Amino acid sequence: MEFYQPVLERLETLIQQYPDRREYSYDETKRWPETKRFELIMARDAAYELGASGTGAANYTCVTMKEGHWTDNKTIVIGSDLNEIATDTSYARLVVLALEEGLLGDTTSRASSEQAFHTLQKLDFIKYHVFPKGYMIRTSAETFREQVRVQNEALREGITFEQLGNTFLKHYLEVKGVKAATVVFLTDPAIDYEALKADARKVHEITLTFSRILEGIPTDCSICSLKPICDEVEGMRELHFGKQEMGGRKPVD
Ligand code: SF4
Repeated sequence: MEFYQPVLERLETLIQQYPDRREYSYDETKRWPETKRFELIMARDAAYELGASGTGAANYTCVTMKEGHWTDNKTIVIGSDLNEIATDTSYARLVVLALEEGLLGDTTSRASSEQAFHTLQKLDFIKYHVFPKGYMIRTSAETFREQVRVQNEALREGITFEQLGNTFLKHYLEVKGVKAATVVFLTDPAIDYEALKADARKVHEITLTFSRILEGIPTDCSICSLKPICDEVEGMRELHFGKQEMGGRKPVD
């Protein structure tokens, strides 16, 4: 089942709207260096901020199980690269991971839904463990924004989105069951970052649905808070129906 299909379709459409986008195939030798832990960059040492308050910002990580989609390991840049930016600007970093079949289980049993939820959470949490040198990332789980302070020194040393993308890609590709990974950096101020943030919220809600169904939510769709998700995402109803059938009850549509 392609649970994140609506979000992925919108991202594919957005990417296609930018024929002048830059694409870089994964190259492990071109990674930007990392520090071992979170490094504080003082405002006086920063050239600018990406996704600072007052500018657009969004961040999400979603997965695809569809055969033949998102199969290349690459970084896509839409808008200016880091060395072309002079002042605070809008920013989004979006990640799509192609997973091996079966990594999420069949999502029709309690055990496999638990497995799916924990796998998706683990993949999302990778962002908290990547510390690129001179690139201080602050991610908000509540607002679905990612804000970055870019150090002057890192710019002098030639930091680029291609190198950063390779650094992130290495972390994602190390996870067992991740077949391919795409990292998309967006800085074009013309992009609708509010729409991307709404999609980030949707990704979160879809992931949460796995655990909510496990917790035992109402079986009447007309009063269920997850109805907007189930209306939009193919397979969610089957997920709940499948569980209730096992327990002898079916949700009321
Ligand atoms: S199938 Fe109905 S009851 Fe079950 S989660 Fe979706 S909207 Fe809620």
